[in-house]
Formats: sequence, C-alpha cells, structure tokens
Amino acid sequence: MRTFDSIVIGVGGMGSAAAYHLARRGQRVLGLEQFDIPHDFGSSHGITRIIRMAYAEGAGYIPLLRRAYELWRDLEAYSGERLLYLTGCVDAGAPDSATVRGSLATCRQFSLRHEVLNARSLHERFPGYRFPDSLEAVFQADGGILLPERCIINYAKAAEALGAEIHTRERVIGWDSSGHRIEVRTESAAYRARKLVITAGPWASQLCPLLRNLAVPERQVVLWAEPLRPELFQLGAFPVFNLEAPEGRFYGCPAYGSSGFKIGKYHHRRENVTPADMDRDIHAEDEAVLREGIRRYFPDADGPALGMTTCMFTNSPDEHFVLDTHPQTEDVCIAAGFSGHGFKFASVVGEIMTDLALDGGARYGEQIGMFRLARFTS
Ligand SMILES: Cc1cc2nc3c(=O)[nH]c(=O)nc-3n(C[C@H](O)[C@H](O)[C@H](O)COP(=O)(O)OP(=O)(O)OC[C@H]3O[C@@H](n4cnc5c(N)ncnc54)[C@H](O)[C@@H]3O)c2cc1C
Repeated sequence: MRTFDSIVIGVGGMGSAAAYHLARRGQRVLGLEQFDIPHDFGSSHGITRIIRMAYAEGAGYIPLLRRAYELWRDLEAYSGERLLYLTGCVDAGAPDSATVRGSLATCRQFSLRHEVLNARSLHERFPGYRFPDSLEAVFQADGGILLPERCIINYAKAAEALGAEIHTRERVIGWDSSGHRIEVRTESAAYRARKLVITAGPWASQLCPLLRNLAVPERQVVLWAEPLRPELFQLGAFPVFNLEAPEGRFYGCPAYGSSGFKIGKYHHRRENVTPADMDRDIHAEDEAVLREGIRRYFPDADGPALGMTTCMFTNSPDEHFVLDTHPQTEDVCIAAGFSGHGFKFASVVGEIMTDLALDGGARYGEQIGMFRLARFTS
C-alpha cells in the first residue's frame, strides 16, 4: 500500500488550495478527485465567482479575506495568469437591511474605503443598475471576480510542481484511522497517510457522517443573459452585486469575455438535494426566478439567455463555514459547509487546513474559532 504524508479528498475549490499549501510545507501529498479537474458537477464551476472585502456576513471574515486576496495574488504571480479582476462591489438593500447595515459596519470597523449611494446616484455612476428609491447601496472598490476553474487548475498544477500526486477519476469510498495512521480506500486502490484533509464540497457528509445536518447540499441555478446594452455590464463599468431585495437575495457579476451578465439568487427555489439525485436539467421556473431579478433591477441586461447551469451550495445551519479537526481524530481536518459564499476564501482555507493538519492551526487561532464544530453542540 502506498504511503503519503497527507491525503486530500476532493480536489475542487478548497482541496486544490489545500494540496498546494501542504506541498509547499514539504508534505508528500496525494490529492484524490472523483471527476476531472475542474468539472461541472460540484460547487466551483461557472466562469466567475464574486470576491468582496466589505462582508455583511460578519466582521470575523475580514482578516481571512485580507489573507485570501494576498494568496490569490501570490497564485497569479506563481502561475503567470490573471485570476482576480477588481470591478468594485455593490451591497444593496433597504437602508436597515442586514446586507447594507452589515456591509457598512465592516467598512467602518476595518476602515475600508466605501461610499453610500442612493438609487439615483448609483445609476448615474453605474448605469446598468436601476434600483427603486427604497434601496440603498454601499459601494466598495475592492470587490471583483475570480475565475474559479482557472484558480483550481493553477493550484492543482502548482501542487504537482511541488511534488504532489493528484489522481483524477478516482473516487474515495471510505477511510479509517487507527493510532496516527489513516487508511483511505478508493474504487481502485488503498493508501496510507499520517494526515487526511476532507474537502469534498456537497459530498462532505458521505465521507464524514457527522456533517449530515451541518453540510446540506442545495440546488442552485445561475443565468447568463446577453445584455441589451452590453457596454453597461462590462468588467470595469459594472460592479459585482449582492442585493437584498423584497423577492430575495440576488447576486451577480459583469460579463467576463463573451459570457454575458451573470445573475443568481441565494437559495434559488429552496431545494435540498443529494449530489447523485440532483435535477441538473433547467426548467422554465428556474429562469423565471432569475428573470424577475433582471427585469426589476437590471432591465438593460434583459436579453436572451446565453447559458444556464445548475450548481450546489452546501449549507451549514448558521451559514458560516466548518473549518476544524475531526472530533474523534485530530489527524483528520474538515473544510465544509461553505453555504454559497466560500470560493473567495479557497486560497486561505487551503492554508488554514494545512496549519490545522500540521500544527493544530496555531497561526489562525481565534480567527477560526467561529468556524469550529463545537458551536453546534455547545
Ligand atoms: C451557483 C453558485 C454561485 C456561487 N457564487 C459564489 C461567489 O460568487 N463567491 C463565492 O465566494 N462563493 C460562491 N459560491 C460558493 C462557492 O463556489 C463554494 O463555497 C465553493 O466552490 C465550495 O468549494 P468546495 O471545494 O467545498 O467544493 P467543490 O469545489 O465542489 O469541491 C469538492 C470536490 O470534492 C470532490 N469529491 C467529493 N467526494 C469525493 C470522493 N468521494 N472522492 C473523490 N473526490 C470527491 C468533488 O468531485 C469536488 O471536486 C457559489 C456557489 C454556487 C453553487
């Protein structure tokens, strides 16, 4: 049986970064991925992901975001490829909404450059936005997009360049730990390691049953529309957005290349799923949910659909991440439950998993306290 220092199960957003950071710390790493790298069946496909500094989800995320930006820039430098584009971010909603208040609070607490714009001034500045007067926006210039598939490819390649072995199309069917030895079984082989990192996205609870109610997959759909006025929705002219509207919370990105204006809605049609059984077809009801957001708030983008795809969130009960060691064995680390807002953190999550595996997470200490499993039991 072949032996490694560390095995990473799932080479998607988080796992590709973990494999890289572990290899960088001198570990002999095996990354096991059930599909190709990248692929369209999990949570990290779809051309673009939002990255933003103002973070209504909680002030505790800001130190991690700062490190995430740095590490994305490091990956760009290492790979020689542009992966992160700044275009600004609009957090919008009623003035007393959690999104506007939370975003403003983090801007003030961390001295992030920002402006508060009413619907009219937002439209004057970024004409693609046509909000009703009841909505207000916090504009923060550090928002932008990441190219998730390229990030994953580049992390996986960088890990391999540092000596990691990455196997695609090799599904893990189980693992055991005894003493300080982990055994991982796949459909075609078995391996040993001293450390195991589980970054299995929507499949997490299949490998870690304790996550059954803590990392619940949910079907999502995103739509790319061909704008009626393309110049208003270009990178640079149009900030990413996070809009808490009466109909729900929409998010979206400017057109990247020829992809069109992108829009999604958090929790889409509230369909919890299992990855194997998820309906991956697109229905008229799916488009209707997203067209409502386009017509009401971005009417100049309301052209034909250029593409639609399904994807999965993996929700924790409080929508904060799970970053921890396994309660039964500290040799196993878990990154799960990213609840629809994890990709931007993948770079720093890879580093956190490495620190947890190799020295108990000393560097991040209290910064990851809010992501520990114990919060669900205490
Ligand atoms: C529609 C949509 C839009 C989003 N928008 C944003 C956004 O704008 N900004 C943002 O920050 N976040 C966003 N997110 C969330 C973000 O994309 C996810 O939090 C992130 O991609 C999760 O990464 P992951 O590594 O946990 O999952 P994945 O990238 O899915 O990786 C898990 C990997 O594990 C593999 N795996 C699972 N089980 C096994 C096994 N048994 N054996 C081998 N391999 C296995 C899978 O095949 C997969 O490759 C969005 C998510 C969706 C669905």
